[in-house]
Amino acid sequence: MRRPFVAGNWKMHGSRAENADLIDALLQGLPAQPACDIAVCPPVVYLWETGRLLKESSVALGAQSVCAEPIGAFTGEVSAAMLKDVGCRYVIVGHSERRHHYKEDDALVARKFLAAQSHGLIPILCVGEFLEERERGQTMAVISRQLAAVLDLAGVDAMRNAVLAYEPVWAIGTGKNATPAQAQEVHAHIRATVAARESASGGKIAAALRVLYGGSVKAGNAAEIFSMPDVDGGLIGGASLKADEFLKICAATQAH
Ligand code: PEP
Repeated sequence: MRRPFVAGNWKMHGSRAENADLIDALLQGLPAQPACDIAVCPPVVYLWETGRLLKESSVALGAQSVCAEPIGAFTGEVSAAMLKDVGCRYVIVGHSERRHHYKEDDALVARKFLAAQSHGLIPILCVGEFLEERERGQTMAVISRQLAAVLDLAGVDAMRNAVLAYEPVWAIGTGKNATPAQAQEVHAHIRATVAARESASGGKIAAALRVLYGGSVKAGNAAEIFSMPDVDGGLIGGASLKADEFLKICAATQAH
């Protein structure tokens, strides 16, 4: 049984004061026994302080990106060891905004995944297709290619300590979510792709792997998306900036 997981990607939003208010409202509204694991991923400059605000709560800290290199002359970058040092448990790798605005290709994403894991962080690996790729019937091929880059470099065993996120590019920040059936189809494909790499473990790694959906999830559509058998929660952008909305999305994992 996979425990659902909801992660909030704050992107480049917030301030010290706004973050404090958001965390305060989240912690106030969180039930004693949340229905899912929860993480928030603030901008890197706010990680330390957000971690302190989360204190001993059940909300974990995640980062939005990581450098593939371990240390050295990489101006502006932040290493996996540094993220671990300030209390991160998770880090998003391969978000479409990194892949497309910053030209991070499959090979670099795979190296970031490995860098994160080698310092004890759990990567949240994002994969997803453009609208034109979907319209050309290339969705599964794109997802397979993005996944293969990581599986080839890190090996299938690495999926024991990772989270996957299917984020169709056309659904991110657009208000246009994938239908539950579209999400389920891709999530099942992701799980099957991982299972196909397992010989010794007989599909156990794929069966335990949490695959999140991301792309315009809101309180109003979360439950029907999370009710799909292979959708194990969500990676939430815009709606993670409103405590009441984010809390309702977390509660909606009960539909899983
Ligand atoms: C995201 O940034 O990962 C995301 C899914 O954004 P939104 O929820 O705003 O579509």
